[in-house]
Amino acid sequence: MIIAIDGPAGSGKSTTARLLAKKLDFIYLDTGAMYRAVTLFFLDNKIDLTNSDEVSSALNKINLKIENRSSSFNVFVQNTNVNNLIRDELINKNVSNVSEIYSVRKKMVEIQREFSSNKDIVIEGRDIGSHVFPNADYKFYIEADINVRASRRMKDLSNANKSLDDMCKLLLERDKIDSNRNISPLIKPKDAYVVDTTSLSIEEQVIKLFNIITNN
Ligand code: C5P
Repeated sequence: MIIAIDGPAGSGKSTTARLLAKKLDFIYLDTGAMYRAVTLFFLDNKIDLTNSDEVSSALNKINLKIENRSSSFNVFVQNTNVNNLIRDELINKNVSNVSEIYSVRKKMVEIQREFSSNKDIVIEGRDIGSHVFPNADYKFYIEADINVRASRRMKDLSNANKSLDDMCKLLLERDKIDSNRNISPLIKPKDAYVVDTTSLSIEEQVIKLFNIITNN
C-alpha cells in the first residue's frame, strides 16, 4: 500500500509521515532528504546549476543511497551518511533551485519508484500524490498557517539565529519556487484529503490520518 503525503515546509508533514509509518508498521521515505543530499553534493562540487553538462555529469557521478532501518531514514552520498549535513541553512537556501532541474527530478523519481515497489510505505514530499504515485492508495495534503510553520521550523533548528519574520520570508520564498516550477510543482492533488494542522498537536495529526486510513 502506498500512502502519499505532500505539503509545504513546516506543515508538520515529515513528523506526521514518520510517526504514521511507525504506527502502521510501514516503511517511511523522506523524498525531501534526497533533494537535500543532491544539493549538498552539488554545493561540495561547486556545480554551476545553469550548466546542463556539469549538472548531468554530477548526476552520473553521485552515488545516492537511501535506507530505512529500524524506523530511521538514512541518506548516503558516496557511501557517507549525510543525515546530519543536509538540514543546514545553506542547503535550505539552495535546495529549491536544485529541485527545479528536470534531470535531477527524473533521477530522484526513478529511485523513489524503485525503492517503493511492492512495499507498504508512507512517502512524503511535494509531488508524491500528483506525479510520483498518482495512483497511491491514500493521498494527503498537509498545510498550516505560515506563522505556525515558521515557529515550528525555529524550534527544529536549535541555533536558528533568525527572527520569526525572516523565517516566514524564507519559507514563503521556498513555497514560491516549489509551487511555480514547470516540472511537477507542489500542488494539492484533487483527490487528496486536505489536513490543516495549524491548531493540531503532532499526536492529533497522526491520529487524524490513521483514522482516515483505517476507517476507509
Ligand atoms: O521536505 P523538505 O523541506 O526537506 O524538502 C526540501 C526541498 O526539496 C523542498 O523545498 C523542495 O524544493 C524539494 N522537494 C521536491 N520534491 C519532493 C520533495 C522535496 O521538490 N518530492
